[in-house]
Amino acid sequence: MRSLITLLCFLHVSSSFAFSLNNTVSASFSQNEVVVNVADNCTNLGVSSSEILSMVSDGASQFWNTVSTSRMRLRAGSVVTVDSKFYNEKICNSNTGSCEPNTNLTVGSGVLITCNGETTTNFPASQRTVLAITIPNNISGTTIVGALVAINDRSDNVFQDKSRAQMVSIIAHELGHAVGLGHSPVTDSLMYYTLVPVRDSLGWDDIDGITYLYPKEQPFGCGTISQVDSKAAGFAFMLILLFPLIWFQLRKLVLRFLHSAS
Ligand SMILES: [Zn+2]
Repeated sequence: MRSLITLLCFLHVSSSFAFSLNNTVSASFSQNEVVVNVADNCTNLGVSSSEILSMVSDGASQFWNTVSTSRMRLRAGSVVTVDSKFYNEKICNSNTGSCEPNTNLTVGSGVLITCNGETTTNFPASQRTVLAITIPNNISGTTIVGALVAINDRSDNVFQDKSRAQMVSIIAHELGHAVGLGHSPVTDSLMYYTLVPVRDSLGWDDIDGITYLYPKEQPFGCGTISQVDSKAAGFAFMLILLFPLIWFQLRKLVLRFLHSAS
């Protein structure tokens, strides 16, 4: 009986999964509260670093911090000064298949949002419309220690053309990558690969994904059944199956007794 319930849970879960992860080890932050800082190096976004920090706060409360089944909460930290490397250097040493992080840009803890104007590898002219590149670039085992969000700060970037509400959802999307999520194939998701005109709440696939990485109590919501209950249920099931045979044998004994008595 227990194995049957386990199987049913498995089928339910596997049929509803669609989200993907942005690393191969299902890495996630170990702490419940992930602090997001913003570098003071943006020049072409049309908004200040403190305004971006405000968007982080709004994005957290509007999206990721609404999930009751997730233990993870994002918190807007502060505007910080960082080395010019964060603006000038490429995010990945290699982009063939997977990203090999540039260790010069390793984030010590939490999430750092930086502007980046590197136009050879990160944001060349052919990638002008790319909004940002995000990667957990400090992973230890299955734990994300630090993650980097690099917003495209080309002078002709398309981020600056977005409404504030869209900027909030863009940042929330990148923060989803920062905490371990990949893209979702489900259109009605914040983690859908492309920006949709209006996105003001998470989709079910976002909730599934963040709950998978940061389960608050029991993953997937499947309950447990005790071994004792399982045995009792199995015994009762066996009795039901054997009842015709038992009844037949009893009836034969009674008839034999009556026959010999007569
Ligand atoms: Zn994305």
